[in-house]
Amino acid sequence: MSSVHFEVDGAVAVLRLDNPPVNSLGHELRRAIVEALVRAEDDPAVQAIILIGSGKGFSGGADIREFGTPKSLAAPNLHGVLRAVEECTKPVIAAIDGICMGGGLELALCCHYRIAAANARLALPEVKLGLLPGAGGTQRLPRLIGVEAALSMIVSGATISLDKLRGTPLFDAVADGDLASFALEFARAVIAERRGIKRVRDLAIRMPNAEAYFQFARNTVKSVAGPYPAPLACVEAVAAAAQQPFDSGLKRERELFVSLMASPESAALRHVFQAERAAAHIKGLPESVATRPISRVGVVGAGTMGGGITMSFINAGLPVTLVETTQEALDRGLANIRRNYQNALRKGSLTEAKLEQRLALITPGLQFETLRDADLVVEAVFEDLEVKRRVFERLDEVVKTGAILASNTSTLDLDAIAGFTKRPQDVIGLHFFSPANIMRLLEVVRGAKTAHDTLATAMALAKTIGKIAVVAGVCDGFIGNRMVARYGLAAHDLLVAGALPQQIDAALQNFGMAMGPFRMADLAGLDIGWAIRKRRAAESPDEDFANIADILCEAGRFGQKTGAGFYRYEAGAREAIPDPAVSAIVEGFRHSKGVVPRPVSDAEVVERCVYALINEGARIVDEGIAQRSSDVDLVYLNGYGFPAYRGGPMFYADTVGLITVARGLTRIAATAGAQAQFWTPAPLLARLAREGRTFSESTGSST
Ligand code: NAD
Repeated sequence: MSSVHFEVDGAVAVLRLDNPPVNSLGHELRRAIVEALVRAEDDPAVQAIILIGSGKGFSGGADIREFGTPKSLAAPNLHGVLRAVEECTKPVIAAIDGICMGGGLELALCCHYRIAAANARLALPEVKLGLLPGAGGTQRLPRLIGVEAALSMIVSGATISLDKLRGTPLFDAVADGDLASFALEFARAVIAERRGIKRVRDLAIRMPNAEAYFQFARNTVKSVAGPYPAPLACVEAVAAAAQQPFDSGLKRERELFVSLMASPESAALRHVFQAERAAAHIKGLPESVATRPISRVGVVGAGTMGGGITMSFINAGLPVTLVETTQEALDRGLANIRRNYQNALRKGSLTEAKLEQRLALITPGLQFETLRDADLVVEAVFEDLEVKRRVFERLDEVVKTGAILASNTSTLDLDAIAGFTKRPQDVIGLHFFSPANIMRLLEVVRGAKTAHDTLATAMALAKTIGKIAVVAGVCDGFIGNRMVARYGLAAHDLLVAGALPQQIDAALQNFGMAMGPFRMADLAGLDIGWAIRKRRAAESPDEDFANIADILCEAGRFGQKTGAGFYRYEAGAREAIPDPAVSAIVEGFRHSKGVVPRPVSDAEVVERCVYALINEGARIVDEGIAQRSSDVDLVYLNGYGFPAYRGGPMFYADTVGLITVARGLTRIAATAGAQAQFWTPAPLLARLAREGRTFSESTGSST
């Protein structure tokens, strides 16, 4: 069946685009549009043509799945379609409702008339993929809504509702009531009044102060674009629209688009976009699995995580029963939640009414019995297996059959936790990140016995609460914490070798990490790792767990919360100030290990820390803990501040070249003594490097 429905009503041909869910302009739809246009042109009875959408609206734009494939270039390409529309000898009217974005809006801009329904939402979001609208959007939009408004839409990629654009020449009319019948009436008027063909390209832009304006725009955009080239390229393209004849402006837009398409930043952003879609596909999970309905949730523990998790649910309108052990702990938890919302209220991102509405969704309690009717319960109590045992045994007793029992554990064995119940098929890990109401990442931990529908329900729930869910297998630290542990060890080794925390943090922040490892450790609190190392040292007395952080902890330096850690902090401030006392502790540690300090370059810092991440990521993929390398990227991008313009550690490895990474690791391993195994290239990495392949093509976003 064609993806364009063709109907003739009197003298008007109606071309209804039908490529669910968003009428993306893939090859089949492009071909069908051109074919339908030719048919309408050839039909002597037709005097005007309407292009109208269906489903979610007019068109969501290019089909990103075609990017980089021969289909994206296959004739007719988007330019061919736009030319066919613009050069059509009969008036073409775009009837826009719902979404009209990217290539979809560029298609509408090539039509001779545009009418819109009140629900129309428009955007040129290409900048979010490190690109610019490359099919005339930067040239035509300013001719209709003015240079400033167009530039703001193009540089921000923001979605604009019809109301903001009402009254501009972008729309010839706004429909009240049914768009299709309004469009027919409009088309008949165009014919009757012989309004003819109006091409946007023929409109002139008059801007006497253009040069000064664009200089100002360049400066403003440069100061916020950071490492991304696309926003500035958008300014250049719009400047060409304002300062050059249409065809040379179009040529300039093309050149800029082609150079952005080849930029590593855009490749990384497109990888992230694809990765988010791929993560929703779970290997071995039949499409037909029905999810369980979730209309009431329980949360056990109202501490740091329990509070944030509760907020995530109530923000999405899901009622939560929140259970604690004491009234005091419960009151504290509720007060924290209220304080968080009050901060949002002060910033203007929440209204008083909404705040009260959300808080009213919480039913606080001290009895597990109140969780009886929950469809899903998330446990967020202390990280102690015995405490978890008691909680899960109790949940097994009271919570209704068929409910999902989830643990937020960071490090404990989920299969052991599932074993505390008589329903391990209903048990899953939901590993939120702190602050849980803000961080978008959710590791969904699949236990050995987790049922298909438990997993499918957790993934659907993640979507409901606006999280990016990544499936992880059971192991110590799952994906993210297992990787960050290796990264932390690499950073610690560099400290011992001769660097200081401030140098290591600065080198990694210059690489693009949101925060260096020592600032991050200070923020998270050094005492947690200290307790874990003490436990591990007691369990394995022959291994060396000594860490400079332990000496800091012994001196009462637990990080930001005590005003000192790897840095010192002024009261009430978050600025990490290098501290000579820490340098002395580091020197003392080196001395105790017989280490003679050596110079460490920033390049070595980046190489060691990032390669440590990549090597562990490869092991995680090889062991099946992550389904694909792009899932590892998503975890590290969304949970640990890896720069999006580098696409995540595994994508970064692909861009560096796996052979280079493998050689670097082998070189480090040769001098790593007892740690040689840690640095030896992981089997998957070594194999792909030998074969000249990448993570992305071998495990990337395949589903
Ligand atoms: P927390 O100490 O802030 O809160 C734990 C809460 O659980 C306390 O309020 C305590 O009173 C309550 N509690 C203890 N036993 C209980 C019981 N039997 N019934 C009801 N409530 C009980 O700890 P947290 O940082 O919120 O961590 C909770 C869990 O989340 C741990 O498993 C932790 O590993 C995991 N986690 C923590 C983080 C983080 O950054 N803090 C991130 C991800 C996961």
